[in-house]
Amino acid sequence: MKLILLGAPGAGKGTQAEVVCDNFGLQIISTGNIIRQAVKDETEMGLQAKDYINNGKLVPDDVILKIIKERLSKDDCQNGFILDGVPRTIAQAEALDALDVKIDKVINIVVEDDVICKRLSGRRVCGDCSASYHLDYKVPAKAGVCDRCGGALIVRKDDEPETVKERLNVYHKQTAPLIEYYEKQGILSTVYGQEEVEETSKLLLEVLKEK
Ligand code: AMP
Repeated sequence: MKLILLGAPGAGKGTQAEVVCDNFGLQIISTGNIIRQAVKDETEMGLQAKDYINNGKLVPDDVILKIIKERLSKDDCQNGFILDGVPRTIAQAEALDALDVKIDKVINIVVEDDVICKRLSGRRVCGDCSASYHLDYKVPAKAGVCDRCGGALIVRKDDEPETVKERLNVYHKQTAPLIEYYEKQGILSTVYGQEEVEETSKLLLEVLKEK
């Protein structure tokens, strides 16, 4: 299965991608995680992307396309994958279509902006493996420590309130048009993000089990 998770920043795409991965064994491709790692490693792409990511802007389409082409050509993607956070513009979606990657389903996770702002203020991520936690909804077993790898949990730079506002603006202007794009292709399903992560997962897995 080839799946795209759509939704505003903080809608829960990353968390739900992990649930789908556990249930279907699909590879998660998160352009956000790839870019953050490149920024950390100070690679050429990371240096190019740093200011965009830190200011809540989208990294240019040509950079994203290069990342995606490279990632999708790897062996671990041949049986299916989950795209988390990509495509984010119509140009990226068209480029993906042009690569002849036949997407089976696109799931749009809908969450209101005010709920997103509250959620992102409590989000913590592992500085080592990028696993995502929340101070109220997904509490790690030991405060400040990643359950998965023992790394230290940090606040993402772009989760600061002003940057979150900008990311939501960018989402509504540049990414939300993808809802109609995939609706027209007849592959879009909608899942309303619930307060409890498990409730959203249940709805999402039901959609995935539909033909
Ligand atoms: P995310 O972790 O998906 O919220 O992504 C964090 C940031 O990485 C975004 O705010 C953008 O700056 C950048 N980014 C990730 N994916 C994309 C994409 N598909 N297109 C453009 N920028 C992206």
